[in-house]
Amino acid sequence: MKCIFFCQELLMEKATIERKDARAKCMANRLRLGQFVTQRVGASFQENWTDGYAFQELSKRQEEISTEREEIDKKKKQLAKKRPDDGRKKSANANANNANSLGQDQHQIGMNNGSSSEETTFIKPPPRDALTMQEYYEAEEILRLRQTSLKKDDAEMALEMEKLERERNLHIRELKRIHNEDQSRYNNHIVLNERYLLLMLLGKGGFSEVHKGFDLKEQRYVACKIHQLNKDWKDDKKANYIKHALREYNIHKALEHSRIVNLFDVFEIDANSFCTVLEYCDGHDLDFHLKQHKTIAEREARSIVMQVTSALKYLNEIKPPIIHYDLKPGNILLTGNNVISGDIKITDFGLSKIMDEDSYNPQEGMDLTSQGAGTYWYLPPECFVVGKAPPKISSKVDVWSVGVIFYQCLYGKKPFGHNQSQELI
Ligand code: AMP
Repeated sequence: MKCIFFCQELLMEKATIERKDARAKCMANRLRLGQFVTQRVGASFQENWTDGYAFQELSKRQEEISTEREEIDKKKKQLAKKRPDDGRKKSANANANNANSLGQDQHQIGMNNGSSSEETTFIKPPPRDALTMQEYYEAEEILRLRQTSLKKDDAEMALEMEKLERERNLHIRELKRIHNEDQSRYNNHIVLNERYLLLMLLGKGGFSEVHKGFDLKEQRYVACKIHQLNKDWKDDKKANYIKHALREYNIHKALEHSRIVNLFDVFEIDANSFCTVLEYCDGHDLDFHLKQHKTIAEREARSIVMQVTSALKYLNEIKPPIIHYDLKPGNILLTGNNVISGDIKITDFGLSKIMDEDSYNPQEGMDLTSQGAGTYWYLPPECFVVGKAPPKISSKVDVWSVGVIFYQCLYGKKPFGHNQSQELI
């Protein structure tokens, strides 16, 4: 009991320090990376994002580079005009001069009685600011080097901008998290069900909040997903929500695989809220990673796909088999501090289908219930078939989703419906 008590005290102290640090860091980043500013639009107020000084400085430097580039282009054109005649051009000019002077010469011949044309060729003196060939090449070389160095600066600037944008995304995420944490009912390190100490808010969904917690009994970190029912909902809506959540819980609880997030526990908090306790994954999901980095190297993408298919193989071999039905980057969690080359775990069995003997026929597949649910970019064509009878589906739904995820990892865009809204699809 004493050990548990001290653990709790220390963890709370640590969480309090971390909470303070997170706010201080966010405050400092507001000026540098940007912040939401409340602005009046007509009769209402809007929260608009304003970039911080780091972005303004970078764009200023980018502008300077482009002005310098234009200047160099101009100088290059001027220099080209001043290009002295090289040997080839000289002889061509000389010929032209000769031809020109021929008329004169002939005229002169008439006058001078047969003097040679070469002697009388008039060589125009070079302009006062004319360059020698040596000077021309030097000036050209200097301009070319400046252009190359500008190109390098430009590329570095683009990289810096990408880095800054990634920092900004993290900062925005953190700002929202802190805002949600401040609003949360569960932000004062309470202990749920006499064992789960809540430490910090990790994220918020539609009707749920996920907190990082510590299981004092098992002495391990966990993710506590608190489902909050709306107290204004009618009883049947609440009952339906709970039925759905229980179904998800029962499917998920029975799964035991290293590539599937473990579900440890479920309990009621009060009449309108309950909590599911999940294995804690220390990292972002693949969706956020793809937003930050666009693509993933092939060998890393292959590793992710191998791990997901290993979980799918398991889901297909247990009795009764399960179709996940909602595989997408957001449901693939990265572990080990965000390294993409580490372990992944799949989560969220809220839309999963159980292929038991009643519902599944190996020849025909199974009826798709709750058509319209799911994330359309990752669903195969059979899920969109409309008609009187519901479409037939099988575990191939998940196989299709894995293909789409693999494509997105490699090419940085979705193969179907990229940039289209769910409604449009
Ligand atoms: P969800 O409502 O399931 O999308 O979760 C909201 C956020 O909570 C996610 O974006 C994750 O950052 C975080 N989260 C969910 N499940 C876990 C977990 N098992 N371990 C750590 N973080 C999690």
